[in-house]
Amino acid sequence: MTNTKCREIDWDLTFKTKHPSKITSDITNKEDSNKRSFALKLLCEELPTLSKRYIHKPNLYSSSSCILCEKLVEENNMHVFTCKRKGQIDPIKNLTNKFKEILIEKIKKEEPGIDIKIIKKVVSEVDILNYTYEKDYTLSKNYSDLSFFDVIKGFIPNILVTKVKKICRNKKAKANKIIIDVLEEFQKILKQIWKERCDKVIEWEIKNGITNKDKRTRQIRNDKRTKIQIDKTSNIKEGNLHISKMMEKINFQRKQKQKEEDLEFFTNEIFLNTFTYKGNNLYKIKIFSDGDMAISS
Ligand SMILES: [Zn+2]
Repeated sequence: MTNTKCREIDWDLTFKTKHPSKITSDITNKEDSNKRSFALKLLCEELPTLSKRYIHKPNLYSSSSCILCEKLVEENNMHVFTCKRKGQIDPIKNLTNKFKEILIEKIKKEEPGIDIKIIKKVVSEVDILNYTYEKDYTLSKNYSDLSFFDVIKGFIPNILVTKVKKICRNKKAKANKIIIDVLEEFQKILKQIWKERCDKVIEWEIKNGITNKDKRTRQIRNDKRTKIQIDKTSNIKEGNLHISKMMEKINFQRKQKQKEEDLEFFTNEIFLNTFTYKGNNLYKIKIFSDGDMAISS
């Protein structure tokens, strides 16, 4: 993420919306923890998509391509939400509209006295929420400004906070509450999309003879020192196919490793040293896999 983008984000609210309030009941806590886990995985691009499965279980998954598409497209975190599922319409259009609807509804609930036309007008001024055309997620990473993909990941743009505050006549607590509520509602929609995707993938796995036990069994990895072994009795054609498949896998793993090295915002030194969260430099904040956050000493 570029420094310009970093400056466009309200970090305090971004963290707050990933850390819903603590409630004592156990059931609620579990729900809470599930929500938090999904939200954080989305933020850090850690959803167990086929692209991840393919790296960890190359013996089970022959490719990282999305199984819901007609085209061969890598199923990464954002593809889950941009996948047209063999249709024509860009799902991002629907998601931007949904986000706006929820936002308008929550503002109306908190500020019932304000004319709906005025609310709609102010919401329409938040450019990032206006769908214009189909955008490519990979290319969007090079844009200088935030895009709706960042909102899907869970980043809260400053402009959104400014506009909501403006409607709430500068009442910060009220504006924050509205945004936290909107994010929670929007996350439910995203989670539903992820769930539907998971149901389809499970169906596909059953058809392809991949069991839960297979998925849990540890992959015996040869990693970097992988030796390409070809059964000497097999014919050359089979050998070539084997090599090309192996090369494809090695290449893919290399690309993934590069991606991990490029993982921008938590490793961007300038940013980490400039921005603070609750008085701590960001590099001191650790996020655990179960969604908990801690300040390291
Ligand atoms: Zn797809």
